Amino acid sequence: MSTMPSDHLLGLELVRLHAAPASKAEAIAQACQLLVAAGCVAPDFAASMQRREAVANTFLGHGVAIPHGLGEDKGLIRKDGIAVLQVPGGLEWNPGQQARLVVAIAAKNDAHITILRRLTRLIQNESALEALFTTHDAGEIVHAFTADGPRPAAVAANDFNHAFTWVVDYPAGLHARPASAWVDAARAADLAVRVRHGLEAADARNLVALLQLGLKAGDEITVSAEGNDAEAGLARLKSVITGLSAQEKLDAERAAAKAQAVPARGFTPPGALPLIAGLAASPGLAIGPLHVLAGEALDVPDRPVSLTEGGNALHEALSQTRQQLAALADDTARRLGAQDAAIFKAQAELLNDSDLITLTCQLMVEGHGVAYAWHEAVTRMAARLGALGNQVLAARAADLRDAGQRVLSRLEPSIATGSLGDLPDQPCILVAADLSPSDTAGLDMARVLGLAMIQGGPTSHTAILARTLGLPALVAGGEALSAEAVSGTMAILDGASGRLYLNPTAADIEAARAFAAELAAKREAEAALRARPATTTDDVRIEVAANVNRPDQVAMALTEGAEGVGLMRTEFLFLEAGATPTEDEQFATYRAMIEALEGRPLIIRALDIGGDKQVAHLHLPREENPFLGVRGARLLLRRPDLLLPQLRAIYRAAKQGGEVNIMFPMVTSAAEIIRLREICEQVRAGLDAPRLPIGIMIEVPAAAVMADALAEHCDFFSIGTNDLTQYALAMDRQNPDLAAEADSLHPAVLRLIAQTVQGARAHGRWVGVCGGIAGDAFGAALLAGLGVSELSMTPRDIPAVKARLRRESFADLQALAARALACISAADVRALEEPR
Ligand code: PEP
Ligand code: MG
Repeated sequence: MSTMPSDHLLGLELVRLHAAPASKAEAIAQACQLLVAAGCVAPDFAASMQRREAVANTFLGHGVAIPHGLGEDKGLIRKDGIAVLQVPGGLEWNPGQQARLVVAIAAKNDAHITILRRLTRLIQNESALEALFTTHDAGEIVHAFTADGPRPAAVAANDFNHAFTWVVDYPAGLHARPASAWVDAARAADLAVRVRHGLEAADARNLVALLQLGLKAGDEITVSAEGNDAEAGLARLKSVITGLSAQEKLDAERAAAKAQAVPARGFTPPGALPLIAGLAASPGLAIGPLHVLAGEALDVPDRPVSLTEGGNALHEALSQTRQQLAALADDTARRLGAQDAAIFKAQAELLNDSDLITLTCQLMVEGHGVAYAWHEAVTRMAARLGALGNQVLAARAADLRDAGQRVLSRLEPSIATGSLGDLPDQPCILVAADLSPSDTAGLDMARVLGLAMIQGGPTSHTAILARTLGLPALVAGGEALSAEAVSGTMAILDGASGRLYLNPTAADIEAARAFAAELAAKREAEAALRARPATTTDDVRIEVAANVNRPDQVAMALTEGAEGVGLMRTEFLFLEAGATPTEDEQFATYRAMIEALEGRPLIIRALDIGGDKQVAHLHLPREENPFLGVRGARLLLRRPDLLLPQLRAIYRAAKQGGEVNIMFPMVTSAAEIIRLREICEQVRAGLDAPRLPIGIMIEVPAAAVMADALAEHCDFFSIGTNDLTQYALAMDRQNPDLAAEADSLHPAVLRLIAQTVQGARAHGRWVGVCGGIAGDAFGAALLAGLGVSELSMTPRDIPAVKARLRRESFADLQALAARALACISAADVRALEEPR
């Protein structure tokens, strides 16, 4: 689609600063006067603009109004142009809608698109927009509307003055994870940065443009920059680009090792059946009819709305989706690790792509509804990525579709369930190109027996989540799967060997059933062991609990062998809801948790907001160093409006029964816990509720060192090794470059844990660990040896941890811990683990 250069549209003479029109009509008249004076329109155009107001709302949102003439009056336009009236004091455009920039548009279609594209970008950038509302420099407004970034696909393949060349050495090429790191670094440098491969070039601040270069290992690229201090900025960018190589190589090695892992045992049917061979993704046998998912053929209704309404809806849907993805990334990082979470961050980045937003606006300007326009734009962009013939980029196309689907379901809730809503009633083996992470997470387990994916890899999200859900799955079935799988065909899927057998005979099905029964019996035996306590050979019992945030996750945790919930991260109630849950809503959730646990202990952690867990709807002040800022207990003490309803909800829930404990995060000093206890007591007394044990998380080194002093005021400690490690080692827990070094088994962290246990003992308190290392079998053994008596972890880690703890005597674990404390590095500590 052609767009005309926006720099023809607006000059200084078309901007009027500090206007204070008395009414909307006067504002339109003043803006139109500018257009008339510049020779853009005939004087009658003002009347056309006024008539437009009578039939449509031209308030774009975010303080911007875009009055324009009626379609039939295009003849009054002499040349395209826009006039901008700045109204710093604001003007009521419609009831409740304040306009501070009136952008009068005189344009035929093409220029309209250009302006809208610019405006949509501006609206995304609230601080830039705010500056335009009050600037004293008309040039700033002209610049904002005309300094359009180059379209990434059409960047001239010239380099800027400062440049370096580099041969891509990421084995998987430039895929979304490293590409988003490049984008972040390029944006932080505040330079124009171009990445060129041969004749093709991309703006390094644009993720999709970078991905479209389709860079593979071995490709030589030139990265060039211009702007203030370009040389230094480019050097920093280079170090980011080259610094990622080690991690990328490691990831590739791991993925290759996993892909080559030969399944221990698989099913072999007695008859010679046609088979499709993919890669093993999740073990188990599924027997049933295939159901082939109909790709992206979503029927999105095309319901045109006004540009204003569409623009607002899109803006709202995008920001809600970004927030949802941030929450998902955070939760996934805690449950599965930073690597798995990165995909959601990359998805959020894909949504920021200005081309995608522009294309959507263009389609809206052409007269399409916002949901339709969005879906169409996503489909076209994803097709462009998919067409590059690169497996990795094809996967990113799936990510774009996934993120796009999230936005779409907000724009058009009637299709929120997506294509998975139409599964047949009879349970089936689902065949699809690839499932998105959200599809897989929301699968109706009663209707799906197994998954056969045409694309994907053994470490793809479908595979990870299928394993978590215990669903047999194969991935990378390829062309054969897409060509031969027909809905309704009977099949046997073996997730251990990655094979799909088609049209089995009765004898094959019988053999498969027998095999499946054998597998189930084996699993049952394991489940029986999982249910056994973690008691060492000399009879010391370590409690093993689960980190669970929602009542509906409890049953699965208990099946895995959890003896209670050692950490309920309540901030996810706030993060996932998109709004602050009321006291009654919290009460209902805590009650449901207590009931699901059927008398087992529950540790409810009070809100831990701040650091990496930012809740947009709380509108907290921005901090330079959020991890060192008003976080956890510090925030709770400053925000009684958050703390009191939560405590009331907890005490009310506990009053109706259950073994409830309260735990406060990020406590640094005795004064904090003393004050928090006082508040708890006031709330409890007011409700005549039972006294509950009150514990704190040990996450700050100061708290570990002062554990003996803090223990006097608490009933228990639970060590948050994720944070304790980052604060002890001064390594950001989110920084992928430091991930390998930020090891919770570092002797410095272990010594802090030993000190915590010692401090707690002085007052007869128990100590648990609920950070990630509790779910590492070797880590758990060490922690037990250090005197930790409760371990709380991701449910799926429980069986292995229990088995490890049952293997040895407590005396041996103590000896192991003593050796670890004497080590000088995390690597030395890990070397103490004997291979089995
Ligand atoms: C921790 O820091 O180890 C912990 C369990 O808390 P979170 O991961 O929620 O910060
Ligand atoms: Mg923590």
